[in-house]
Amino acid sequence: MRKVLVTGGTGYIGSHTVIQLLNAGFEVVILDNLSNSSKGVVARIEELSGTGLDFIEGDVRDHELLRGIFAKYAFDSAIHFAGLKAVGESQEKPLKYYDNNVTGSIVLFEEMMRAGVHKLIFSSSATVYGDPGYVCYSETTPLAPINVYGRTKLIVEDTLRDLKKAEPRWQIALLRYFNPVGAHISGRIGENPFGVPNNLMPFISQVAIGSRPKLMVYGNDYATPDGTGLRDYVHVEDLVAGHVAALNTLGDANSFLTLNLGTGKPYSVLEMIGAFERTSGVKIPYEIVERRAGDLPEYYANADLAKEVLGWQARLGIDRMCADTWRWQKTNPAGYVID
Ligand code: NAD
Ligand code: UDP
Repeated sequence: MRKVLVTGGTGYIGSHTVIQLLNAGFEVVILDNLSNSSKGVVARIEELSGTGLDFIEGDVRDHELLRGIFAKYAFDSAIHFAGLKAVGESQEKPLKYYDNNVTGSIVLFEEMMRAGVHKLIFSSSATVYGDPGYVCYSETTPLAPINVYGRTKLIVEDTLRDLKKAEPRWQIALLRYFNPVGAHISGRIGENPFGVPNNLMPFISQVAIGSRPKLMVYGNDYATPDGTGLRDYVHVEDLVAGHVAALNTLGDANSFLTLNLGTGKPYSVLEMIGAFERTSGVKIPYEIVERRAGDLPEYYANADLAKEVLGWQARLGIDRMCADTWRWQKTNPAGYVID
């Protein structure tokens, strides 16, 4: 049985990943400090997969703890989701972001090395590309992030490129996510942001459930068809399937993968509002306000390489993204607090 350490496994993408891993026959141990997730997720994962797992509450920066975990379990691989992801906060608190995202990653890699575990999937992001001056990003688009969060991701990517050169036995996948949205089809797990959501989809769904009065649309004067920003939204279940495919593909012949995970088709803010209203039957009040600092008008993935290398392609469209988000929000109006 293949055993995987999933850091950040109670978070949004991590929790969906753990279900697919358990369903695919992997054994899973989660390490998460619960800084942005709830322990109640674990019982839901077990309920949905019909399988048990080990959950360890702790910080990925804790060398001693990691050493103990690697001594206890014979892992084949790790998937490293643990990290902080709010772009605005990263600009205000750079030390917090470099410490969590960069130091945390290095401690993990050191302890993997010590334990002889050399297979890794790292959660990277389209933010590593910055603003190249065009809108369709392939993996060869220059890397020039424009915010602290993006720079933490690039530093970890660079660390892993250097590690691979120095230690060829490592097998590493850098997966660059575009805009993950949606939830498990059961409505039992989903995105559960603490505080005011930064991202569009959780904000829309909190307006729909009535916990926020209206959505602020950040600008309708971009040079896009309806003036609002365009993004490549990808269903979390598709995104996660890309991780399982990467884990199965990593090997001697494919030992360093750098792949975009997106659909290749962007949608505007107004299109997302329209899709949510159509699938939920709920009206989303909104107001057009100033552009948000640092936002780009438009970008999306060229995801051809993931198709070629992994045989992976996103399957689920925006109606499923919205319907699944709404099912989760409607049945869990206050997130996981009921557990
Ligand atoms: P999330 O916040 O829901 O999950 C991250 C998890 O990591 C949380 O459960 C949090 O408690 C945990 N964590 C944070 N710091 C930790 C630490 N030092 N030690 C142990 N646990 C820690 O976020 P998510 O959306 O699931 O994102 C997962 C990963 O994917 C992150 O690395 C994020 O940067 C990356 N990513 C996310 C998006 C997105 O839009 N959601 C896009 C691109 C990349
Ligand atoms: N957006 C918005 N209102 C919000 C949150 C986001 O209009 O409350 C817009 C944002 O300007 C961008 C798109 O929705 O055009 C996606 O934003 P999100 O923060 O989800 O993703 P990112 O900008 O990080 O790609």
